[in-house]
Amino acid sequence: MTIKNIAVLTSGGDAPGMNAAIRAVVLAAHHYALPTIGFFSGYNGLIEASSTLLTPASVNGIIHRGGTILKSARCPAMLTEQGLKSAAATLRKEQIDALIVIGGDGSFNGLLALNKYWSGAIIGIPGTIDNDIDGTDFTIGFSTAVNTGIEAIDKIRDTAEAFERIFIVEVMGRRSGHITFNVGIASAAEQILSFENFSQADEQEKLSHLAKEIKQAQHNRHASYIIVIAENLWPGGAVQLAKQLKQTANIDCTACILGYIQRGGSPVAKDRILATKMGVAAVQALIAGKNNVMIGERNNQLLTVPLDVAVQHKEKVSESLVSAQESILALTAQ
Ligand code: ATP
Repeated sequence: MTIKNIAVLTSGGDAPGMNAAIRAVVLAAHHYALPTIGFFSGYNGLIEASSTLLTPASVNGIIHRGGTILKSARCPAMLTEQGLKSAAATLRKEQIDALIVIGGDGSFNGLLALNKYWSGAIIGIPGTIDNDIDGTDFTIGFSTAVNTGIEAIDKIRDTAEAFERIFIVEVMGRRSGHITFNVGIASAAEQILSFENFSQADEQEKLSHLAKEIKQAQHNRHASYIIVIAENLWPGGAVQLAKQLKQTANIDCTACILGYIQRGGSPVAKDRILATKMGVAAVQALIAGKNNVMIGERNNQLLTVPLDVAVQHKEKVSESLVSAQESILALTAQ
């Protein structure tokens, strides 16, 4: 299929670097003399036919900005046949030949569903802070989110040291532990609690284990104590864990939920560069006749991965990271 008109949208949780990816798509398409239309607010823009022509001028001065100039949103209508049909109808009406979606696994599932009603080419660019996409070492936004988490915990550490306090810091990541383990390791957390080393069936055992370790650390006058915990892991989250430690072992902890600050902010160099490489590669992949793939990067080499492989959630947090923390770095009661 000859590509004449490209569309791009950002979908799911926004991630720092999405703007850099939009910019790269627009500039690459312009280089190959292809016009690019941007749809607003994720798949809502397709269903509501809300779009704008993107030119090199429209992507000027955005590489350093967090969020996304195209806006992002969840779009429940995409889970219905009616929604998919209206999205496909808009693409046909606008004579779009190829759609590039910058988003996470949910957004890629949306692309795969849409493909049943629309025969244009589809390409995914992994844009999510969670790093939970298979076939790529990193997703756009992950590095910035990890750096934001580290900066926040470095600050919390100052208070924790000064007041000899215990903090339980909850970080984002949906159902994956990439952010938790990377932030925890890089901020020298005394404990990391994540999907890789905790299951809800072990809640009571883990609670008494943690209480024992914290008491030992207090006995040794270890001034500050930070537990980094993944969201959606402990029943009731960090606040409930703090309550349980108080109730069962009379340990005072402060729960701190980092939340949305991890999604925002100016993208770090690594995300800007990854996003730019992936945006250019997406347009080149379309010109080369590729379809139904995600642009990934492995060992610094760009590649394409079938979209249905990218959403499988088979890839886990690096085992060396988990085992270094568990067997060597985590503070353990002697
Ligand atoms: P993140 O994990 O970073 O938040 P994401 O892309 O995984 O990003 P989701 O909310 O899971 O975010 O999905 C984004 C949108 O993709 C949904 O709101 C919906 O419009 C669409 N989508 C998700 N799953 C499907 C599906 N199975 N069929 C059709 N559309 C889907």
